[in-house]
Order: sequence, then structure tokens, then C-alpha cells
Amino acid sequence: MMAAGDILTLNLDGAYLQRKFQAYRHQTSLVLILAAMMGAAQWFIDRELDPAAARGLLWARLAYLWMLLPAWAILRVGSHVTGALLALASLTLAQLHDIAILRQLEGGIATTVMSFVFYPMLLVLLCLGYSLFVNWAGLALLSANPLMLASAGWLAPFPYQLYSMAIWPTAIFMLLICAAFSLGYHQRYMLEMALEQASNMDPLTGVANRRHFQQRLQQEASRFVRLSQTCALLMIDIDHFKRINDTHGHPTGDRTIQALAGICASSSRDVDLVARLGGEEFAVLVPGTDLDGARALAERIRSQVQELTLHSDAGLAFQWTVSIGIASLARQPAGNLDAAALGEQLMAHADQALYAAKNAGRNRVLEFIQR
Ligand code: GH3
Ligand code: MG
Ligand code: MG
Repeated sequence: MMAAGDILTLNLDGAYLQRKFQAYRHQTSLVLILAAMMGAAQWFIDRELDPAAARGLLWARLAYLWMLLPAWAILRVGSHVTGALLALASLTLAQLHDIAILRQLEGGIATTVMSFVFYPMLLVLLCLGYSLFVNWAGLALLSANPLMLASAGWLAPFPYQLYSMAIWPTAIFMLLICAAFSLGYHQRYMLEMALEQASNMDPLTGVANRRHFQQRLQQEASRFVRLSQTCALLMIDIDHFKRINDTHGHPTGDRTIQALAGICASSSRDVDLVARLGGEEFAVLVPGTDLDGARALAERIRSQVQELTLHSDAGLAFQWTVSIGIASLARQPAGNLDAAALGEQLMAHADQALYAAKNAGRNRVLEFIQR
């Protein structure tokens, strides 16, 4: 978990930044489109300043519409790093483009130097989806750019005092606004994470709940349809659980359910999904595994349960067992490859196998057999 302090130490966690980028990329793109139109429309101001020179600069102003290209690209790039580079490069180029035009107007730089404060402001809107590091680096870059060009003699005569009076307070103010936005987004992110986790998790055992299981089942079924990647499913149910509840009490029943969740979780791999479907019934989704692999896993779980002695709240030792049904996604006849139906079918098959295991005397693993 990240603390609020991580924001101020620039928070460079990849997954966090990627999510932030996704949340703001449409805004970034929109700001670039607006900036492109504003840049082009500035021709009317050029005309007020120096009508004669402005006539020859109409195309140069219209060329500002190149910014539509990064506006489009930002919606398509995959990583927040590329996105940040694209946004910063676009804004820096836009500033240089602006300066190049203003230089050609009579008194252009001197009379419009105050308008350079718009660049830091634009950056705040443009770069909300990036880290505070990017925000601050961008602010420094955009504020210092005119000064560097001026000291290279490009912008003579340059009103240094006027520029400094306008730019530095603006830059510092924008820097604080960026920090406030970053903190705000971080709070929203933590809330989103907590909600996401709560909505996917079974509170008694900490494994996935039925909702999350259904989602993953769908994903695995579509992966099977698209990529022919197979997937197996275990349905696990505690035998005579009602008796455990009746004999030892509900709290002991709860601990038995937790013990089963622990055994399932420790027996399976990271890519597998253990879920509590309800009551004392669990499912383990095992991607990339056929029936043989599923049988081995199920047998491991079954025997670990059989060997684990539990104690009731009253201190009485008791044994317990589980029954497990297994099934796997099998190639369907052509034309019958609907992912949703396949997922439901896999569940129904594993369920059938589970009931067969119950009927055959419990404490065993049975697989689904197509009749
Ligand atoms: P079988 O071997 O056929 O599975 O028999 P069973 O007794 O395990 O099956 P049954 O479905 O009849 O009983 C399940 C019991 O689980 C009934 C219900 O009271 C109990 N139960 C459901 N949810 C919970 C829970 O969260 N905690 C506890 N302690 N018991 C629960
Ligand atoms: Mg049961
Ligand atoms: Mg049951």
C-alpha cells in the first residue's frame, strides 16, 4: 500500500501510473485539441499586433493544427511513459512554434510575453494523468524555455523583468495545484482499490467470491475459444458439513470452511483461481491444465483435508473430508463455440461430477464423463 507521502516523493509505481494515465488520457487528448485550435486562432491577435506581417503568417498559424496528431496518438499509445513523453514534447514544440511566429511580428515578443504564462496552466490540464515528477519537470521546462532562447540571443529585445514577474509565481502556483491534484487522485485510487478488492473477495476466507469467479470463468472460456488454451475446473464440497455445524457449532463450521480455503490456496498456483461459491462449496479454476493435471491437484487437496485434524471450539478433535468433481474445457463441434455457454457448461459438468462423487460414497475425486 502506498502512503500519501509517496505522492510527494513522486510516486513512480508502474501499475498506479498506468491506471492514472488511463483515467486521464481522454482529457489529455481534448486539451491538445483545444490547444491546437487556440494556437491557430491566435492569428487574429497577430493581425492586431502587426497586420502586415500577420498576412504572411496565416499558414504558420494554421500549421498549429499539427497538434491534432498527438491528440489522436495519445488515445492509442499503450504506456504512460510514451504518453508523458508525447504530451511534454507536444507542449514544448507548441511553445517553440508560438515563439517562432511571435518573433516575426513587430514588437511581438515584448508585447505578448505575458501570454507565456498560459503554458504552465495548459500543462496542468494536459498532464494530470502523469506523475508529479512529469508535472514538475514540464513546468520547469516550459518556464525556462523562453529564458534559454532569450539568453541565446534569439528573442532580443527580451523583457526579462516582466517575464520573471509573471512566470515564476504562476509556475509555483501551478506546481502546488499539481500536487493537490495528485493527492486527490491518490485518494480516489485507494478508494477504488479497496472497493474492487471488497467486491471480489469472500469476507470469511479471503479467497475470491462467486462474482469474481464468474468473471474469470468467462475470461478463461473466451481464451479457450480464441486461443484453444484449455482450462480445468474443480468443484469441492465438504462432506456432511451439516453434521460438523450441528455437532461442534457454527463457529467451528466457519473455521472448517477457512481451513479448506487455506488448503486450496496453498495447493494451487498463482494463475489458478480459488473461489468460495457459497456455504461450504469451493471452486478452483486451473488455466492451462487438462484433466490429468486437475486430477492430481484434486487428489492433493482431498488427501490434505483427510490428514488435517481440526479441533472444535470445545477442544474436541475431529476428522473431515471433501468430495471433488472435475471437468475440463473440451473442443466443441465447429459452430458451437460461444464462450458464455462454454463457461456455464464447464460448471455444470464439474457439478455433475461432484454429485457423482457424493453418490459414490464421498471423500473422493471423480471426473465428468460425457454420456
Ligand atoms: P453433503 O455431504 O451432501 O455435502 O452434506 P452437507 O451436510 O455438507 O450438505 P448441505 O448442503 O445439506 O449442508 C450445508 C450446510 O452448510 C447447511 C448450512 O447451514 C451450512 N452453511 C452454509 N453456509 C455456512 C457458513 O458460512 N458457515 C457455517 N458454519 N455453515 C454454513
Ligand atoms: Mg457439503
Ligand atoms: Mg454444499
